[in-house]
Amino acid sequence: MSIRTSFLFVYLLQFGFAMLLKYLSFLGDTSSETHEAILKYFTEEDLRKGIEYDRRGFFASLASEWIDVFLTGLLVFTPFSVKIEDFLLRKTGQRFYFAAALFLLALGFFKFLIGLPFHYYFGYVLEHRFGFSAMTLWDWILYTTKSLLVGTAISLPLGLGSIFILRKFTSSWKYIITAGSLVLGLAFSVLFPIFITPLFYEYHPIEEGSLKSKIVDLCHRAKIEVSDVYVINESKYSGHTNAYFTGWGTNRKIFLYDTLIQKHTEAEVISVLGHEIGHWVHNHQTKDILIGTAETFLLCFVLAYLFRKTKEENRLPLKEFSSPSSLPFLFLVLSLVGTVTRPVWSTLSRMQESQADLEALVLTKDKEAFIEAEKKLAKDNRSRLNPNRWEVLLEHSHPTTLERIHMAEGFSGE
Ligand SMILES: [Zn+2]
Repeated sequence: MSIRTSFLFVYLLQFGFAMLLKYLSFLGDTSSETHEAILKYFTEEDLRKGIEYDRRGFFASLASEWIDVFLTGLLVFTPFSVKIEDFLLRKTGQRFYFAAALFLLALGFFKFLIGLPFHYYFGYVLEHRFGFSAMTLWDWILYTTKSLLVGTAISLPLGLGSIFILRKFTSSWKYIITAGSLVLGLAFSVLFPIFITPLFYEYHPIEEGSLKSKIVDLCHRAKIEVSDVYVINESKYSGHTNAYFTGWGTNRKIFLYDTLIQKHTEAEVISVLGHEIGHWVHNHQTKDILIGTAETFLLCFVLAYLFRKTKEENRLPLKEFSSPSSLPFLFLVLSLVGTVTRPVWSTLSRMQESQADLEALVLTKDKEAFIEAEKKLAKDNRSRLNPNRWEVLLEHSHPTTLERIHMAEGFSGE
C-alpha cells in the first residue's frame, strides 16, 4: 500500500472512530446501577437536563465534523493548497514571507468563516436556549470579532516565526522549535492574565471579608504563598461557574468566577479553591509542561520523517517542509497522532483531577461542602451525569461527577 493510500485509509478510519464515539456519547451510560447511583444525589429532572444539554446541536456538530473532514481532505489530497501558494508567490513578486503571511491569513480566515455558523449556533443560539448566555447579539459579535483579532495577532507571528526557523535552521530546527515552545508556553501563561484576559473580562482582587480570610487561611495551611486571588466577571457572558489559576512560580494567580461566588456558600467556594490549590501543590502544571515539551520534541521527528517519506513517494502534492502549503498535511499528521495521544493525556488529566480533589478534602476536612459543591456545579452547568464510559476513558479530562462524589464519600480524614 502506498503512503498516500495509507494516509487516506487512516484518515477515514479516524473519522469512523470519531463518529462511533459521538454515537456512544449521545447514548451515555444507560446501566441501571448508574441510574440508581445518580438518583441518590440528583433528581430525574437534573439527569434529564444534563442529557439535553449534552446532546444539544447533535446533528449540527456532526455536520461540522463532516465539513472539516471534507475540507482537510481537499487541502491535503488535491493540489489546491500548492496552487494557492504558487498564486500568492506570483502576486507578491516571489516575496516569500509576504506570500506566506497571506497564505496563513487566508487559511485562518477561511477556517473562521466555515466555523462561523456553528459558533453562532452553539455559542449564541443554544447557550440562550439553555439559559446560560447573558450576551446580546451585539455583545456576541463584539466578542467573536475580538477573539478573531487577538487569535490572529498571536498566531500569525508564531506561524511566520516557525516557517523562518524551518528554513533557516534545516538541521537544528527540532531543538529550536521545542525550546521555543517551552519558553513561549511559560511566558504566555504569565502574560495571558496581564494582557489578554483584560480584553475580555474585568477582574479585581477579592474583597476583604470572611471569604477572603478563609482563603488566606486555606493557603496558609497548604503552605503556599498567594497574594493574588481575583474575582472575574464571567456573569457578563454566561451563567457557567468555574475557578482556575494561571501563571507560574511566584507569578501564579487564582481566578474565581463571580458566578461561583454568587451561587455557592463560602465553604463550597473554599472546597473548589482547595481543588485548585491541589493542582498547585502537586506541581501538575510543571509536570504537564515537561511531558508536553517531550511530546513536542518527538512530534518534530515524526512530522519530519513522515513528510520526507511521503515526498519521496511523490504521490501527494507537497513542496518543501517549510512551505505554507505543507501546513494542511502537517495538521493532518498532528490530528492522526492526536487520536492516539489524546486518551493518554486525558487519563493523566483525570488522575491529576482526582489528586486535586483528594487534596481539597485533606486541606478543608469538609466532605459535606465538597459533595454539595460538586452537586451544585453539576446542576448549574447542566453536566451530563451519565456520560458514556468509553467517552470518559478516551476523552474526558475530569472524572465523572458521580466518581468525584463517591471518592469524597470514601474519604476518611487523612
Ligand atoms: Zn482541576
